Amino acid sequence: MTGNWQEQVSLKPYNTFAIDVRARYFTQASNDDQVREALAQAAARQVPVFVIGGGSNLLLTRDIDALVLHMASRGRRVLSDDGAQVVVEAEAGEPWHPFVQWSLEQGLCGLENLSLIPGTVGAAPMQNVGAYGVEIKDVFAGLTALDRQSGELRDFSLAECAFGYRDSLFKREPGRWLILRVRFALSRSLLPHLDYGPVRQRLVEQGVEQVTAKAISAAICSIRREKLPDPAELGNAGSFFKNPVVPAALVEQIRAGFPQVVAYPQADGLVKLAAGWLIEQAGWKGFREGDAGVHRLQSLVLVNYGQASGVQLHTLAQRIQADVLARFGVSLEMEPNLY
Ligand code: FAD
Ligand code: NAP
Repeated sequence: MTGNWQEQVSLKPYNTFAIDVRARYFTQASNDDQVREALAQAAARQVPVFVIGGGSNLLLTRDIDALVLHMASRGRRVLSDDGAQVVVEAEAGEPWHPFVQWSLEQGLCGLENLSLIPGTVGAAPMQNVGAYGVEIKDVFAGLTALDRQSGELRDFSLAECAFGYRDSLFKREPGRWLILRVRFALSRSLLPHLDYGPVRQRLVEQGVEQVTAKAISAAICSIRREKLPDPAELGNAGSFFKNPVVPAALVEQIRAGFPQVVAYPQADGLVKLAAGWLIEQAGWKGFREGDAGVHRLQSLVLVNYGQASGVQLHTLAQRIQADVLARFGVSLEMEPNLY
């Protein structure tokens, strides 16, 4: 065995769907040198490398015939502070939510709406994580990634990441970029984003008189705990499908049959539909077959009740996609990375 590689390791503890597939080889990297060493050893042995963070955006349908490299680097720091704007940096393996909480403890605003998202800092740019009207692109100040093709380090600016809705350059070039650390431009003054879903209402219910970043974070955590299954109790990967963005004419067609359709007009004239609403209307909410199911409170979330395989979950997802397409003429795109 090479270095500290382990063989035939179950990935069940390393993916939030808790799917029991095996990695042919497995190792962890706590710093840049360990990343480089793992990649060099894998190249020498002609073993492909599969990078994972928290495994919260993965659907694993088979054993992984590769070296699974688990990012375990830690560290967060203030890079600059002009009294108003503060640039912070965190290593890729830092768990996301504790990093958000640390930023709030420093009196910094900007990440509060992104509270309680599972996973790591290094994976957050992969799909430009977003929630409650904020995406990381809104507070992004740069990142450093290793080009696995050339072995060189490269710093990326906001524009170079080509962030989109649950999308980025890194997602579009799978396997090329290994993100080592990410920088965020945070602020000492709050620009609250409260108009999304039930955030404002929850602050009122909680008796909050002075809205602070910490109060917004607490409100969002309480909403999320109510609506979303905790992966520690019920395997899931969050939203299983992206919200489809479709032409306004198609929405009008749907509205003719379903006047209550949930639709959000976008700046470019297209309209975002709530995928969860489409799936619920199609009758899938709470559906269960074996251990693969659709969550009983949130139809956008597929769940593993225990022993479901990745193939069973994928098959269920495909059935839902076909049904929604047949009923509404809308294609649903999977959000988690399929392997
Ligand atoms: P992983 O699942 O480990 O990896 C995801 C992808 O990134 C894989 O392709 C992997 O190869 C790659 N990758 C991981 N680390 C690196 C790295 N350092 N460099 C290069 N590539 C890397 N997402 C949202 O956007 N908004 C939400 O509100 C949200 N809520 C969620 C709620 C729940 C309950 C769950 C389970 C998931 C939720 N997600 C949400 C999805 C998920 O948490 C995020 O996408 C998260 O950023 C994934 O991080 P991870 O470390 O778990 O990535
Ligand atoms: P929700 O509040 O029930 O709303 C349903 C959908 O409508 C959301 O997905 C959201 O789209 C959209 N929406 C709501 N208010 C909107 C507004 N004012 N303008 C435009 N679009 C609006 O959603 P939820 O499922 O409980 O999730 C709440 C937030 O957390 C959402 O932002 C969601 O994306 C995020 N989340 C993401 C994941 C994941 O795995 N990706 C998991 C859980 C929660 P958007 O999704 O485009 O924001």
